[in-house]
Amino acid sequence: MRALIKSGDRPGLSLEEIPAPVAGPNEVVIDVVRASICGTDLHIFDWDEWARGTISIGMAVGHEFAGVISSIGDEVTGLAVGDRVSAEGHVTCGHCRNCRAGRRHYCRNAEGIGVNRAGAFADQVAVPAVNVFPLPDDLSDDLGSILDPLGNATHTALSFDLVGEDVLITGAGPIGLMATAIARHVGARYIVVTDVNDYRLELAGRMGADRAVHVGDTPLEIIEHDLGMVEAFDVGLEMSGAPSALADILRTINHGAHIALLGIPSGPFEIDWNQVIFKGLTLKGIYGRRMFETWYKMTSMLHSGLDITPVITHRFGAEQFEDAFETVRGGNAGKVLLDWV
Ligand SMILES: [Zn+2]
Repeated sequence: MRALIKSGDRPGLSLEEIPAPVAGPNEVVIDVVRASICGTDLHIFDWDEWARGTISIGMAVGHEFAGVISSIGDEVTGLAVGDRVSAEGHVTCGHCRNCRAGRRHYCRNAEGIGVNRAGAFADQVAVPAVNVFPLPDDLSDDLGSILDPLGNATHTALSFDLVGEDVLITGAGPIGLMATAIARHVGARYIVVTDVNDYRLELAGRMGADRAVHVGDTPLEIIEHDLGMVEAFDVGLEMSGAPSALADILRTINHGAHIALLGIPSGPFEIDWNQVIFKGLTLKGIYGRRMFETWYKMTSMLHSGLDITPVITHRFGAEQFEDAFETVRGGNAGKVLLDWV
């Protein structure tokens, strides 16, 4: 079968023929229909320090996908050949305290599909049956392939009560954009999104932001005043990993407010702890999705009117993967999909 693999100790990926996977007793093999490129995949493509220490040479990469089950292991129940599915990208251990307590998103031994085990940028991928999430009939393959990042956005946005609240979202990458649509869907009052990329800020407006602000153009305090906020933002969602973005949130958020942090900084940085302490702020780190509560929440929201289709901006055939990665790297894009059919 075809697969996008890291073929050597150097930047880039190559599309090569490798042996197709065989389903273990508790696994299913999925024929990949559509896949989507994540920032993680770009790190692997670029072969940065993290990737060099993590990714095995010769392994298929990729973890955001939708497809059809083509074979199932002997021990698998509740799934059948022909089912349209996506899958949770974190394979959890099942035996640590958090796994046993039903908090699998806090598993300390999680492995990543396309990171620590063979990935989904391929004609076929084998995953544990427990990771599979069946797709509703009316959910498109395109949307099915981005449930993983939509799950990140859902997990972040639903961490705190947004109903009637004023929300500041720093970072209009795909996950920040989808969090914008979710905040609008669940009933936030004002949603302000910041970024340094005008293409993405335009998308933020289409996803439901009241104001999409180019960082440095208009101080957030002016935006708060213009919108008629009597006090300040109630919830902050940090989606950029930029130290200055968290500083903006800490400075412009109300006392007793809540901040969810999903953006990954490139390294340690200082923050003004006086803001955290004297404002009595709650900060929560977000990683992955709640298994599988987040999956049910997001598919139900898609059924009830959540529209994230503007975030899908580009589609490429699998053979055009280099153009697809270049589009992601350029930044003037939302989600970039790969067609494997
Ligand atoms: Zn575990």
